[in-house]
Formats: sequence, structure tokens, C-alpha cells
Amino acid sequence: MVRNILILGGITEAYTLASTLVDCPGVRVISSLAGRTGTPRLPAGEVRIGGFGGPDGLAGYLAAQQIAAVVDCTHPFASRMGWNAAAGCAAAGVPLLRLERPAWRRQDGDLWNEVDDWQQAVAVVANHSRRVLLAVGRQELAPFATLEQPWFLIRSVEPPDPLPPFPQAEILLARGPFTLADEHALLTGQRIDTIVCKNSGGPTDAKLTAARALGIRVVIRNRPRRPETATAATVPEALYWLGYQRGV
Ligand code: NAP
Repeated sequence: MVRNILILGGITEAYTLASTLVDCPGVRVISSLAGRTGTPRLPAGEVRIGGFGGPDGLAGYLAAQQIAAVVDCTHPFASRMGWNAAAGCAAAGVPLLRLERPAWRRQDGDLWNEVDDWQQAVAVVANHSRRVLLAVGRQELAPFATLEQPWFLIRSVEPPDPLPPFPQAEILLARGPFTLADEHALLTGQRIDTIVCKNSGGPTDAKLTAARALGIRVVIRNRPRRPETATAATVPEALYWLGYQRGV
């Protein structure tokens, strides 16, 4: 009998998980994407795009597609989908796993200001910063555009649309991952004194390593709270939870 597995996409690990599962006999893999980007990279297996219509819509989808298990691989800051997944899976009686990279942790030498929202970040940079690398995602720029000072270098994969009216800003279109040498050159070349970013987590991050070496302040947003669910930190752990031995 075919086992249907739904992956809620978002992070890189979702692609690795999908491409591994499609090779498992008797498995049908469906990846779900939110549809925020015009030409998304498509994972292996079947793909559906767009919201489900809240927890009830997801529960209906799980029943209609006879989904046996759901793996939530949405970004750590995509908090609504996490709550929807927990509620929808509970309503449909489908087991849910959250696959999430561990958060980055402050290390010796780091000059971190940890904040819970962007208003707190705005207050820190208003008081301490002259030249800021803003790496928060193109849809979350508006709170920073209220400041006359500092100057912002806005790094984004796609152009902000619309771009809030920043008194002083430049756009840098670039897609990571970035090397340590790249980040070191950018931070020194642009005389950056502060980085603002999210605690996305995962492998060592070059901008955080470069900031530590250069004594640059990092204003880092903590992850939003998520529902209590089974969790895995890696793709092999997720495969193990799904019952595939090669995950061990
Ligand atoms: P969100 O606030 O958690 O979700 C908003 C709505 O988008 C959800 O209620 C759901 O609509 C729909 N949705 C989200 N992820 C979905 C998925 N994988 N498949 C189908 N529908 C999905 O998320 P967001 O912050 O807007 O992010 C949207 C997507 O971009 C997520 O998949 C996330 O992984 C990715 N992303 C987000 C960030 C970030 O910093 N927020 C960064 C990188 C990537 P319905 O209620 O209609 O089901």
C-alpha cells in the first residue's frame, strides 16, 4: 500500500528530504509551497502551491489525500503555518514532525543584542549604529525606514516591492550562502558597524563569524514561539522518525 507523506516546504532540508523519500519504495511524496516567490525551486516528487485555507483547510486536505504523516519544514519565522500544521494534523489525526535547524547560539566574542521584535531592533540601531547591514527579508523592512539615521545596506534575494521610503539606504541584491571571505570583504568595504538579522539557525553562518572577528554588533531577532510537536534537527533524524532505517 502506498504511504502518502506531506512536506511543508520552506527550508533547504525540505528538498533533501523530498529527494530521499521519492526513492523509498511505496512512498508518495507531496511538497507544499506557500507560493511567495514567482519561480520557486521545485522539489522532487509531487508539488502543490498555495495556502490550504487555515487549519480546517489543511485538515480537509490531509483527509482527502489520505496523508499518513506530515513533516513541517517551514522557515523558523513562518510561525503561522507551524500553528496551522499542529491544529490541522490534530484535527485529522495525522502525526506531525517539525524539522528545524537548531538556533544559532551566542559565542565568546559576539556582540549580540537579542530582540523579540523589530521595534526593539529599531531602538538598538537608533542608539548605537551608523552603518547597518539589514538582512531581515524584503517584506520586513518598514519599521527601519522610520529612522533618519543610520545608513542601511539592505541585502535581499529579490528586490523589495514596494521599497519603503528610507531616508538613507542602498539595495544589495544577492543570494547566499556567502563565504567568510565574502562577508569579511563586504563588512569592511562598506564600513558596517551593525548587522540586523533573524536567528534562522543551521550551519555556521559566515556573517556572524565575520562580525565576531571584526567586533561588529549583531542585532538578532529570536525565533517566534512554536507549538509543542515532535522535532528533528536533521534530515536523517526525520527519516528515522518516518520509519526509514537509513535515517539512523
Ligand atoms: P506564515 O506566516 O507562517 O504563513 C502564512 C500563510 O501562508 C499560512 O497561514 C498558509 O496559508 C501559507 N503557507 C505558509 N507556508 C506554507 C506552505 N509550505 N504550504 C502551503 N501554504 C503555506 O509564513 P510566511 O512567513 O508568510 O512565509 C511563507 C513561506 O515562506 C513559508 O513557507 C516559509 O517557510 C517561507 N519563508 C519564510 C521566511 C520568513 O522569515 N518568514 C523566510 C524564508 C522562507 P493558509 O492558512 O491558507 O494555509
